[in-house]
Amino acid sequence: MPEDIRLPQELVDLAAELDQRDPLAAFRSEFVLPDGVLAYLDGNSLGRPLTVTRGRLAGFVDGEWGERLIRAWDERWLDRSTAVGDLIGRAVLGAAAGQTVVGDSTTVMLYKLVRAAVDARPGRSEIVADTENFPTDRFILASVAAETGRTIRWIEPDPATGVQTAEVAAVVDDRTALVVLSHVAYKSAYIADLPGITAAAHRAGALVLWDLCHSAGVVDVHLDAADVDLAVGCSYKFLNGGPGAPAYGYVARRLHDELTQPVTGWMGHAEPFAMGGAYVPATGIRRFLSGTPPILSMIPIEDMLALIDRAGMPAIRTKSALLTGYAIAVADEVLAPLGVVVASPRDAERRAGHVTLEHDAMKSVVDELWRRGIIPDFRPARGLRIGLSPLSTSFGELATALAHVQQILESQYS
Ligand SMILES: *Cc1c(COP(=O)(O)O)cnc(C)c1O
Repeated sequence: MPEDIRLPQELVDLAAELDQRDPLAAFRSEFVLPDGVLAYLDGNSLGRPLTVTRGRLAGFVDGEWGERLIRAWDERWLDRSTAVGDLIGRAVLGAAAGQTVVGDSTTVMLYKLVRAAVDARPGRSEIVADTENFPTDRFILASVAAETGRTIRWIEPDPATGVQTAEVAAVVDDRTALVVLSHVAYKSAYIADLPGITAAAHRAGALVLWDLCHSAGVVDVHLDAADVDLAVGCSYKFLNGGPGAPAYGYVARRLHDELTQPVTGWMGHAEPFAMGGAYVPATGIRRFLSGTPPILSMIPIEDMLALIDRAGMPAIRTKSALLTGYAIAVADEVLAPLGVVVASPRDAERRAGHVTLEHDAMKSVVDELWRRGIIPDFRPARGLRIGLSPLSTSFGELATALAHVQQILESQYS
């Protein structure tokens, strides 16, 4: 590969200046940063590990697990799902304690909460969803609809933006049991109007469930303030929980007694160790647990939440907007002449933590980037998805990656 691949000087200087002025710059050194990775632009799919997690995992093996053994269930682990849920709720969801639980995968948690919500509205025949949502969300809704005899009313949003409040308002009525949407579109990064859509659904008497996979930890979320009913999300994206880290589920306190989830395991029982004859759901958010939760996987999440607390969500959101803004500025100046199209919102207010750039050759560009140790995502049919996890990504790293995109397109496809 050619030696010195760089953007035009003023864009290199701009990246250097943004790094210099970045109040969060020092946090990057708290992540594991191997030499072979020139730029990591996929922190929105799998966040980098924190170095502190190494010691915490080793300490857990020797102490909580190795020494305390089964006693640790009574001492710490039985309440860990709700304790870590509360941490997530406070740090990144705008949720008061007692409404968030950690366990399962996003897919399973989504199924449980969708099914519980639909069952709680027996007289209503429809679920409102959108065709641009992530596959798991669409698939789960299809199976709940089939199981419960409901119809899905599909909104077909503009893929370049996302679901608009008016589109939801136009289809919700007294047939709507539940509205299920992603807060941030996984392709474009469009931020839906969570408070406005929630209010529109409530006016029609429907419940609302938000998927927060691409928003929690990078965009401000205020579930309690917006009167949201239910939410789910994963902890391995912007919460850096590691591969297979569990999901979180949020259920507003006012609904706890009204909702019954379908995967009625012993951990969601009122008295798990009574080993009683029939299932009696626990009170509060615990009733949304099913089986033994993944205690080990919660350690990295706690570490990242502590880092997020130190940095502060407002500062994280500000840096995120600067990172995505820089990517768009470079795309406009050097990549647009090569045929690249920006497929994410230009309005920073409506844009979350990633930027999608489209080009017919993007699949092979991304393959070549991976060979060079530059790791973004490819999203079919022609999207280069640049995920910019604010605490672990520098402007210089982003500039390097974009210079390689330019060089590959220039050398191979122009
Ligand atoms: C990443 C993501 C998921 C992932 O679900 P898992 O069960 O954790 O594999 C689900 N929904 C959305 C919107 C996502 O972005």
